[in-house]
This record gives sequence, structure tokens and C-alpha cells, in this order.
Amino acid sequence: IELPVFDREPIMREFLAGGMGAHTRAFIKVQDGCDNKCTFCVTTVARGAGQSRHLADVVTEIQAFAAAGYQEAVLTGVHLGSYGRDLQNNTTFYHLIQAILDHTAIPRLRISSLEPWEIPDDFFSLWQNPRLLPHLHMPLQSGSDKILRRMARRTSRASFRQLAQAARAAIPDLNLSTDIIVGFPGETATDFAETLDYVKEIGFNRLHVFSYSPRPGTAAAQFPDQVPGPAKKERTRRMIALGKKLSLQFHQKYVGQSLNVLWETAVGADNGGLRWAGYTDNYIRVTAHGPADLFNRVTPVEIEEAREDGVYGRVLHENVIRAA
Ligand code: SF4
Repeated sequence: IELPVFDREPIMREFLAGGMGAHTRAFIKVQDGCDNKCTFCVTTVARGAGQSRHLADVVTEIQAFAAAGYQEAVLTGVHLGSYGRDLQNNTTFYHLIQAILDHTAIPRLRISSLEPWEIPDDFFSLWQNPRLLPHLHMPLQSGSDKILRRMARRTSRASFRQLAQAARAAIPDLNLSTDIIVGFPGETATDFAETLDYVKEIGFNRLHVFSYSPRPGTAAAQFPDQVPGPAKKERTRRMIALGKKLSLQFHQKYVGQSLNVLWETAVGADNGGLRWAGYTDNYIRVTAHGPADLFNRVTPVEIEEAREDGVYGRVLHENVIRAA
């Protein structure tokens, strides 16, 4: 089925499992479905209520990935924050992460996406363990309280701001990314301007921008005041431009610094030799020249040049670095 772009992400995350990043990053789906009813989202209709995998099964699977040489595990799910609600013993997502850190040897652990609610106060203390990577994707969708209510999102400008501040205070070098839906029904030019300002204020490090289109079976498809195509297109263009600017600013901060990179793919070759691509702990895409055996190794890189879509660097030495 052809899905509008903003519906694709949870499903795409599932397709990633065992595909992209094989033998470097393992994608582990720990949860499916969702109990929320965001008015634009078809997930509840298509995937049903939230279901969690048992904690012990997830730990065993990650132990196996670590033993097989994977450097990184990425926890995926449709609504990770609700992990455990359907299990017994009051298990939560916090407990799952703690158990993986305590009982597996996986060098790097990443969370794919976390809705900005149901996050307990002490959640960010988990990042005291450097194996939990400083990267959080928290979908905001709009910076207007009016639109957030129409979307039935369980967050607001004030609560998201508080959460972002707490995350940044607890997690050094955090890469905070988000999703924004542009042109949701009822979004006026003023609402859109409010969202642009809010995105700048929070200073997201990366934006995924989606142009709203109605999904049959969702409440928002029936809403009046659908935004006309040309206005939606223009707002999307402006939001994407802002996202690129924020990413570039984030990447520029690291020029001259050394970052650890997990090398995943040889992307080409030129007079300088093989060109490799990989990701830093905080999920900045790095390309650099390197030796033929860089695959699945974590090495330090000096960042030399920043671009909107990543950075270019120089491999400092080829010794493998492990998280502490
Ligand atoms: S939280 Fe909202 S957007 Fe996310 S999966 Fe559930 S219903 Fe969809």
C-alpha cells in the first residue's frame, strides 16, 4: 500500500531490521502497536494496541548480536515509551534499557524514537552509562498548542520545552531530532510561524519534515480547513530550509574536534583511497578516507568540514575504541 510519508516511519523502521547496517548495527523491535489516537495517524487502526516483547527475550537477542560482533543495538518500536504496559511486574522501558546495559556486552545502545510523554523523571539518568548513545528522536509534530490539541498529541509547547531542557542538561553532546508535520488541517500562517519560532527556540539538531496528507480512517481526514496545496508546499520548503540550517550549525560545532565513528559502508574510492561512511555516537554521518578493513570498527576521527547532511573527517588512528 502507498502510505503518506508521515505514516511510513514506524513501518520503515521495521524494514530496517536485518537490512541496512547488517553486521554493524542490529535493529531490535521491542514493541508494536499504540494505545494513543493521534488524529493524523493510521497506526492504531493498522497495528492495534501496544504489545511488548518480554524483557528476557530482548536481552537474550542482544547478547547474541554482541557475541556475533555487532557494535550497536538500536531499539525500535511504534511507541517505545509505552513498553511494558501490557507486561506483568510493572516492567517499563527504563527497566528494559537498564537490563540491556547490565546484562549484555553490546558496546553501543541507541533508541530509535520516543514520543515526548510517559517519560519518567529519572529517565535521562540512564545516560550516565556512556554505552547509551547521546541521540534522541522525539517527534513534536507542531509548535502550536492549538494544532497539538487538534492532533490529539499528549504534549504542549511548555512540557516539550521542559523535557528538551532536562534531556540536554543530562546528556552531553545530545543530538535532539524531531518530526514536524506541516499543513495540518486548521494550521494558519500564524500557527506555522509559531512552529518555525519554536523549532528555532528548541534548536533541534535535525528535522524530519512531512507535508500533511489525509489518511482514510483517521479523524483528521474529516477535519474542515484543509490547508491548500500551494500553502502547504511553501511551508514545507521553509521548514526544510530551517532544518538544514540547524543541522549545519550542529555539525559546525564539531569542526576541529575528535569524535568516535562506527564505520559501516565503503561509499567510493578516489586518489585518496577508499571513502568510508559511518555514524558518530550522536548520530552525525561522517565520511572519511580509510583503510580497507575499517568496516564495523569504531575509531576516532578529526572533523574537518561540516555540511548540512553530515561532516567530513580524517581518521586519527585505526585502533578500535570501545565505549567505557
Ligand atoms: S503516539 Fe500517535 S503518532 Fe505515534 S504511533 Fe501512536 S497514534 Fe501514531
